[in-house]
Amino acid sequence: MRIARFASGDEVGFGLVEADTDSGEEFVARLTGHPLLGDITPTGERAKLSDVRLLSPVLPTKVVCVGKNYADHVEEMREVTGEPTDEPVVFLKPSTAVTGPQDPIFHPAASEEVHFEGELALVISRPCREVPRERAKDVVFGYTVANDVTARDLQKRDKQWTRAKGFDSFCPLGPWITTGLSIEEAQNLALTTTVDGEVRQDGHTSRFIHDIPAVIEYVTSFMTLLPGDVVLTGTPAGVGRVRVGQEVAVTVERIGTIRNRVVARD
Ligand code: MG
Repeated sequence: MRIARFASGDEVGFGLVEADTDSGEEFVARLTGHPLLGDITPTGERAKLSDVRLLSPVLPTKVVCVGKNYADHVEEMREVTGEPTDEPVVFLKPSTAVTGPQDPIFHPAASEEVHFEGELALVISRPCREVPRERAKDVVFGYTVANDVTARDLQKRDKQWTRAKGFDSFCPLGPWITTGLSIEEAQNLALTTTVDGEVRQDGHTSRFIHDIPAVIEYVTSFMTLLPGDVVLTGTPAGVGRVRVGQEVAVTVERIGTIRNRVVARD
């Protein structure tokens, strides 16, 4: 299933994204209820996908991010973030950084070097702590696409990453949550980032240093994850600058594409 959160007119809700079997045209079938809290029921209403505004598919209490999780990216970032580590490097983005799959990324005046980082993201299904790797699959609701937008100059200057990673709009998510993929399938997906159509990251989730079960085991060893929390799994090589006016698109195979234009913050 592909579960989107969307706005249409004055209403905000969840819907299943479906393709019409004859025309191939995509629709959103509105649901009642909240997909992470149990019952969802189709209302019978549907709208063309192109006529609705997609929102971030969840509103997490926190966004937990794994840094340095692809060897080729660790190599390109060695000067900023140092040597590879045995345990995952984990940091947080505030919930207020989250924005929708088609919304603008606001370029802060405080930075002269805003970078994209295309990533696969997990959406957590239930409250959980101390999850052993064998049970990781029980706490993953589905997968979505993320951009871990980073003010690289501030990351270098501040030494820690809260400001650099935490600006409003620095975590586009979407376009929906794809459910039904196994962890093995999620770890075998192509990940591509383009800027104005030009390919900048051409990665693959089979190249994680710390796999999804290891990340869940590690994060929940010290932090409770709640339904709707989002875990970003790290970015492959090719990160780089995105400027005001440019559009950055992140695509993960079998999930979808988020497409965000960078605009100056007033
Ligand atoms: Mg990242």
